[in-house]
Amino acid sequence: MELPFFPPDLFEQDRKVFLDIVREIGTGPEQKFILGEQTRRFEDALREELGAADVIACGSGTAALGLVLRGMGVGRGDEVVVPAFGCAPLASAVLGVGAAPVFADIDPHRMTADPDEVERSITGRTKALLPAHMFSVMADMPRFAEIARRRGVRLVEDSAVAQGAERHGVPAGLWGEAGVYSFVQVKSFGMPGEGGAVVTRDAELGRRVRMLRNHGQSRRFVHEVIGTNSRFDEIQAAFQLHRLPGFADRLRRRAEIAEHYTRRFAPLADRGIVPPPDDGDGRCYYVYCLQVQDRDGLQEHLADRGIGSHVYYPQPLPHQAAFAPHAAASCWPNAERACERILALPIYPHLADHDVDRITEAVLEFAGPAHQDRPESPLP
Ligand SMILES: *Cc1c(COP(=O)(O)O)cnc(C)c1O
Repeated sequence: MELPFFPPDLFEQDRKVFLDIVREIGTGPEQKFILGEQTRRFEDALREELGAADVIACGSGTAALGLVLRGMGVGRGDEVVVPAFGCAPLASAVLGVGAAPVFADIDPHRMTADPDEVERSITGRTKALLPAHMFSVMADMPRFAEIARRRGVRLVEDSAVAQGAERHGVPAGLWGEAGVYSFVQVKSFGMPGEGGAVVTRDAELGRRVRMLRNHGQSRRFVHEVIGTNSRFDEIQAAFQLHRLPGFADRLRRRAEIAEHYTRRFAPLADRGIVPPPDDGDGRCYYVYCLQVQDRDGLQEHLADRGIGSHVYYPQPLPHQAAFAPHAAASCWPNAERACERILALPIYPHLADHDVDRITEAVLEFAGPAHQDRPESPLP
């Protein structure tokens, strides 16, 4: 692929810095490789920027979800309502603490959990709601916050893909009692390795998560609770501190590309190509997904032109062999439809304007001649 979906040169500009950091920490007098000064500074920088009570860096976004659920005391006998369309950790993190995921269908256009479906899924055993932000849009957090308050259940936010996004001025991650970020390579604030974070407005929950990520210790060899090993790497922390100041610009570039796509693709709805909703607030552009009637046809058409694309996700969570035994007999028509239609286009910040145009033109060409000869609208 000339324009791969997963670009191999994400860190090329920072490669020298990365190698310098490896040498510096690798030869440092302290020989401190986890949970040291760099991790503390990284957590502080995120906490200050967000205005959170605490940010706890940990092993991955998946681990962060598990730490939050355990920190909140979610466990055996409890139910957690999760979207039927999304990534596996939504279900596996809940099962991992011994609770049961209850799958709610999604809104057909936003592709995030439908608040009415989530509310219908609440039972006497429901302990928490766990909506997830998806490709291009945040979940409807104002509605979820209202439902959680009114029904007396707790609210956790899977904001793994939405770091840097806001809705009504409230950052993704701070809508619920806790949120999570993922720093895995391909995420918007990805890094060359595994990592994640828990973010919270609740200092006491933060204290529990901090213990849980390091074997339940309040201090060395004092184990107050049964914890796990989900610690953070000093080399990665130093590298993320270096990359943090440029993050907002990279997000802006993603948004610019997404807005260009949406502007050009909005007229294609009658041709079976539907861009994500375009109502301004609560955008996150980790991935840009179209819903396409002939999805496989478009994917092939793009591949023939050297353009990579990706199907997130081919199956609703409750249809996966791992989770089907935990799904009540039910169907999720909107999630099923999304799985058949969704296609993600390249959107990484170092795509050049002419690459964006090339991808845009290829999609327009697939839509047919009526759209192909529209006047070019240049990137802002
Ligand atoms: C990536 C992702 C996760 C998991 O993050 P990892 O760091 O890969 O473990 C969780 N939830 C969502 C919505 C994600 O996209």
